[in-house]
Amino acid sequence: MDTSVGHILGSVDRHGELARHSIAEMTGLTRATVSKAVRVLLEKGLVFETERTQASSRGGPRPILLTINPRALSFVGLDIRREKITGALIDLRGAMMASTSRRLQIGVPTKIILDAIDSILSELASASESPTAGIGIGSVGPIVPQKGMLRSRHFTELNGVPLVERLEQAWGVSVDLQIGAVAAAHGEERLMRTPDYLPRSIAFVVIDYAGIGLGLTSGGEGWITEHGGVGELGHVSIDMNGRPCSCGRKGCLVQYASGRALLQELKADLSEDAGAVLSRVAERAREGESLARESLLEAGEYLGHGLVDVDRLLRPEHVVIGASHDFMADWYLKGASRYIGRLPEAADERRLSDRLHVASMGSTAIAYGAAALQLKKFLHAPGGIIDRMPLIARDQPASQETSFPFAGGI
Ligand SMILES: [Zn+2]
Repeated sequence: MDTSVGHILGSVDRHGELARHSIAEMTGLTRATVSKAVRVLLEKGLVFETERTQASSRGGPRPILLTINPRALSFVGLDIRREKITGALIDLRGAMMASTSRRLQIGVPTKIILDAIDSILSELASASESPTAGIGIGSVGPIVPQKGMLRSRHFTELNGVPLVERLEQAWGVSVDLQIGAVAAAHGEERLMRTPDYLPRSIAFVVIDYAGIGLGLTSGGEGWITEHGGVGELGHVSIDMNGRPCSCGRKGCLVQYASGRALLQELKADLSEDAGAVLSRVAERAREGESLARESLLEAGEYLGHGLVDVDRLLRPEHVVIGASHDFMADWYLKGASRYIGRLPEAADERRLSDRLHVASMGSTAIAYGAAALQLKKFLHAPGGIIDRMPLIARDQPASQETSFPFAGGI
């Protein structure tokens, strides 16, 4: 498959709809090459032709525009963490079609975690109206990407399990493993961009029960450390004489702002499902309970302290807060804003408070991002998948296409 097909799909994806001559101008390809590649895309049902309703201002015939057929393919993303697994299904335009999650009791055996993953994938496969071309996994780190495995210090149950290979064999599609926070930053980048704007850099902060991670993208590329992890924002110390941390230092942010620190502050009963307890705390705060509200705001203030350090160090264009449970990120943002609001403003720069917001996709941000990365990979190099797609009769709507040679029906 010619690489021009990928360039063309990428341009149409970015702009929503484009005429053939605009594609030629943008990609630098000849009109003949564009026409030939577009014919393949039409035959495979990946794009539609639509007629612009208004004639061009310069007169002449109305141009035929090309737009991506959202139902031609779908992509699945998984967010794997110790208290919860979340799955998302997106279409070929990157719109969320379905999401689902399974809560896990912390420390459950490996088989229960794998069963939860399979159950999520089955549910999303049956929700999808179009063939799924790839599964992306965003997990806690560190990971061994080339082996498709986790090697987490805190979430050890999946360490050594060949997760990528297992899912590829079961579902017959390409599977990739990425750090969840990095996947989420990629997802946010897709949601923020417009035809004329691409975020230069995004720092995505993920807060869950056990930790606080930091995923970075810069110029569209994710950043991962040489040990297969991301920035451990949770282990940045905010007080050298502060609370002792398992890493050997004192005053680490995770001891003040993680879900676990929050529950300890609230003296919550930790014998039951920690994820469920965390969800209830956010719910109680929303209903106006002052203890839950103040504890969340205080955790957010500590997070704000850490975010200012991130900002001083990296100056990302956007700082995004995401949490593993609904409504939590909003409270963290409120608390962080309270802290940041007390600082003197730098007059000559865009203030952090103007660049700070919560994840657009809420608690499904990582799963969405992992799916969006699969979509990005397809748009970059669509050849292998397009070759496996059946031809569509020109007089038949593309949405009627049903068969696809992927095993497992996804
Ligand atoms: Zn620490």
